[in-house]
Amino acid sequence: MAGETYRGSCLCGAVRYDVGAPLTGVSACHCGQCRRQSGHVWASAQAPAEAVTITGPVRWYAASDRARRGFCPQCGSFLFWRHLDERLMSVSLGSLDGPTGLRLEKHIFTADKGDYYDIADGVPQEP
Ligand SMILES: [Zn+2]
Repeated sequence: MAGETYRGSCLCGAVRYDVGAPLTGVSACHCGQCRRQSGHVWASAQAPAEAVTITGPVRWYAASDRARRGFCPQCGSFLFWRHLDERLMSVSLGSLDGPTGLRLEKHIFTADKGDYYDIADGVPQEP
């Protein structure tokens, strides 16, 4: 990590991105949509959308009429989430090149979490 520029990519490398702003709101989302799309829990952080530069064939899936989920059509990596009414874009922590210097700040939508695991890391939880 150089200053406030982060870089990331999908598994196959076809989709790459830069974030030219601080990443905030470092969270793990336990909602049913994020668990289905990611396979478990989706960890992300957010920055102003205009600071996120994406290259490659990213595709956007509208899981609802309020938000879009960006993924790589070649390898399936789930990289981005954006609420259409907000100026922030979320990027997946797992797709960032390391070291990120980030630390998980909260678990969100824990009321929707799966029954097959416990959250026991002491990080604050929001139902
Ligand atoms: Zn890919």
